[in-house]
Amino acid sequence: MTQLNPFSSVTASALANAGQQFGTPLYLYDEALIAQRCKNLLSMPNPYGLTVRYAMKANSNRSILAAIRQQGVLMDASSMNEARRANLAGIPFQDIMLTTQEVPQKEERADLEQMILAGMKYNVCSLRQLELIADFAAANSIPLSMRVHPGVGAGESASRNTGDNYSCFGVHLADIDQALALAAQKNLTFYKVHVHIGSGGDPEAWRSNIDRQLGILEQYFPQADTVSFGGGLKEARMPSETAADIQDLGSYAKQKLEEFARRTGRTLKMEIEPGTYIVANAGYIITQVIDKKRTGPSGLNFLIVDGGMEVNTRPLLYGSQHPLYAVSSGGSLLSSSFAPAQLSTGYSAAVVGRCCESGDSQTIDENGLNCARPIGEPEIGDYIVIGGAGAYCSSMSPFNYNSHVQAPEVLLEASGHMRIIRRRQTLAQVIENEL
Ligand SMILES: *Cc1c(COP(=O)(O)O)cnc(C)c1O
Repeated sequence: MTQLNPFSSVTASALANAGQQFGTPLYLYDEALIAQRCKNLLSMPNPYGLTVRYAMKANSNRSILAAIRQQGVLMDASSMNEARRANLAGIPFQDIMLTTQEVPQKEERADLEQMILAGMKYNVCSLRQLELIADFAAANSIPLSMRVHPGVGAGESASRNTGDNYSCFGVHLADIDQALALAAQKNLTFYKVHVHIGSGGDPEAWRSNIDRQLGILEQYFPQADTVSFGGGLKEARMPSETAADIQDLGSYAKQKLEEFARRTGRTLKMEIEPGTYIVANAGYIITQVIDKKRTGPSGLNFLIVDGGMEVNTRPLLYGSQHPLYAVSSGGSLLSSSFAPAQLSTGYSAAVVGRCCESGDSQTIDENGLNCARPIGEPEIGDYIVIGGAGAYCSSMSPFNYNSHVQAPEVLLEASGHMRIIRRRQTLAQVIENEL
């Protein structure tokens, strides 16, 4: 057994080398896979033009942003700081759209205006945001985008559904008339209609949103020439999951946009805004086994590793499952979640971190309890590698909990060269702002 999984050429020996060279815990990203995912998205069928924006909250490291931008993908920022961060990574404001819950005031507001004047697209997400930006946009002839809350969404869990009435993203359909009345009064136009229904839901829900959204656009937005179907494209992290079929979703969108054009005479440009799909499977977290325990004869085996909820909080937050790879300290693959048949030893274990928190685990079942998963039994000092860790791991985790330091990030370049793209945090940095 040598290959980790069917989608990447990263080897167990490369993972062990990285662990040796940079220390653990450590994030490692496969640049070749990121590039391939970008190319796949950019070739999504579309009739009148396609823009792919990367939802940069999935992973905001400047080197990742630059690698993605280099492929021809633009950015979606979820906060003012994300937009600044993208810009500091060398991405011009013209290539960035801001889709945020923030309502910038004072200096932030002045900065927002500068960014918009420099070409950043502003995706209005509430009536209040619209009221506050209206005069400025009118005075400077800035066309706006509107995020519409369609009242229907889908996600991998309730906490990742952003389109139903239990979440508050965008201008709700019930407020559209009021928003459009204000826009008309100020002589404002919306060039883009945006809907993001949630993360990782059933591709069928993504598909049916296309119909709903084109209906909304036709009814309310006579001047829009662009439709953004948002992100949320399902990625398969575990072997049991199925990724969204990009060609299939594109063919459907293309057909619907062509029908729309025949009926209305309007040819709409299409946008999509994936985060997960671009980076999730490109990321690996390399941890080292520091201890082994067992909770009695009727209990579980535990592997204690040096990176847990503070490097990947998704299992605790969502009940997410990630593939696990056991790699010997010498770099041979002991087991992969993608090759369960080869696990004849019958050993299984819960993989937990070092935090004083019983939910600090990479193996949590649907009831929120630690569970044992089949894995090649490692020795202390061997590596447990968490796959599917490129999205919402480094960017989302509570990394200073238990005063652990933020883990470093390494980019495995297409050439095979490993480049450190974020240093390990120091304890001095953890406490530097305390008085
Ligand atoms: C988070 C987010 C996305 C990306 O979602 P994924 O599930 O990572 O593809 C896209 N658009 C908006 C507005 C978001 O907030």
